[in-house]
Amino acid sequence: MFDNLSLKLDRAFKTLKGTGKITEINVASTVKEIRRALIDADVNYKVAKEVTDTIRNEALGRDVLISVSPGQLLVKITQEELTKLMGGSKVDIKLSGDPAVILIAGLQGSGKTTFTGKLGSLLKRQGRQVLLVACDIYRPAAIDQLKVLGEQIGVEVYAEPENKNALQIANNAIAYAKKTGKKTVVVDTAGRLAVDDQMMKEIEELKKALNPSETLFVVDSMTGQDAVNTAKTFDERLNFDGVVLTKLDGDTRGGAAISIRHVVNKPIKFISTGEKMENLDVFHPDRMAQRILGMGDVISLVERAQQSFDEDEAKRINAKIRQNNFNFDDFLSQLEQVKKMGNIKDLMGMIPGMGKAMKGLDIDDDSFKPIEAIIRSMTPKERQQPDIIDGRRRKRIADGSGRTIVEVNNLMKQFDDMRKLMKQMNKMGGAKQAMSRMM
Ligand code: GDP
Repeated sequence: MFDNLSLKLDRAFKTLKGTGKITEINVASTVKEIRRALIDADVNYKVAKEVTDTIRNEALGRDVLISVSPGQLLVKITQEELTKLMGGSKVDIKLSGDPAVILIAGLQGSGKTTFTGKLGSLLKRQGRQVLLVACDIYRPAAIDQLKVLGEQIGVEVYAEPENKNALQIANNAIAYAKKTGKKTVVVDTAGRLAVDDQMMKEIEELKKALNPSETLFVVDSMTGQDAVNTAKTFDERLNFDGVVLTKLDGDTRGGAAISIRHVVNKPIKFISTGEKMENLDVFHPDRMAQRILGMGDVISLVERAQQSFDEDEAKRINAKIRQNNFNFDDFLSQLEQVKKMGNIKDLMGMIPGMGKAMKGLDIDDDSFKPIEAIIRSMTPKERQQPDIIDGRRRKRIADGSGRTIVEVNNLMKQFDDMRKLMKQMNKMGGAKQAMSRMM
């Protein structure tokens, strides 16, 4: 996400390095670079001009403290301005009414159905009783798709595959929700490939009849300026409450994220960064600005981890580490947990400074496959007692997993190093405890 933009902005700030003062002359060229980087990232020209003008004025109006360089100050100002541009602070969705209804709108392929599932999963985790409603009557596959997602996340899906009247389905669904005590209803609607009058009428009608407490417009961020234009058209007809930006994991230039709020004047509420149910983040303008500037987003990373990690499993593994008992089964279980958090490259990008280091590196979930194959070729006994794996067993494991003996040896070495480190940490922890007891 934003790899290119981050890189270009970084270069722009570097041009200011070394100079001790911000002056009209040295700031002008940097600001020009920033503007070019934003426009290249598909930010609307007018928006890019406005924001860079503000950055310049702010920069000239501020004293450079001795402790920061002009470049650092400009990074800070840019971060502040990007944050403001994207809305300042996060805006939550409104959930009121019994049941609270959330209406999902957007073009076909924007990621509506996927998002409906993700939102259902999020609301469920917050302890709500949720019902998902399949009102995408034109795309029969959408109903099945939502059903599959519902099963996966353990949330009920209401559908009437034979019924071609979206309004009727939605009304029946609400009656059903009331009957079954579901307090939150998320309605997935039909989209078209392009804005189309009949689609708009249908969704307008749905909105009028259902009176949702929240209407969310889902848009594919990879469509760049079109995303902004589509948002405008939908907003004129629907007066939606918030935007969901999807596919920010792709090769997107990210401009939509930056300019949509400014142009439509509606807050972005969620961003989606992958096809998995876990790949959903609440949108925080300040964190996003930090991410754009390559400063990472550790807070979102931690939140993602908290959501994905199974606490009991973490406790169990912790105990095993403390007993110097960590084995390949535990290792495999840890791998599974990490994979649940989402795309590895994306996760690494949330770590400050990593974004740049990762550029050009090709990491995907498949990177774990060789390791997994090797571990899965071990017998249960070998996984639990790695020490018994001798040369003969290594050869058998290599043959069984289709990997080379060198790869098996490397993994064994890494695993050994890891266990040594764990032992050392245990010892240090023990020593620390002993010390504090003596004190
Ligand atoms: P709908 O027609 O609006 O309901 O769109 P879908 O939910 O069916 O999504 C269209 C395609 O985009 C599907 O293949 C999804 O798996 C994919 N998709 C949805 N959200 C994301 C995302 O955030 N990132 C990526 N890479 N793919 C996504």
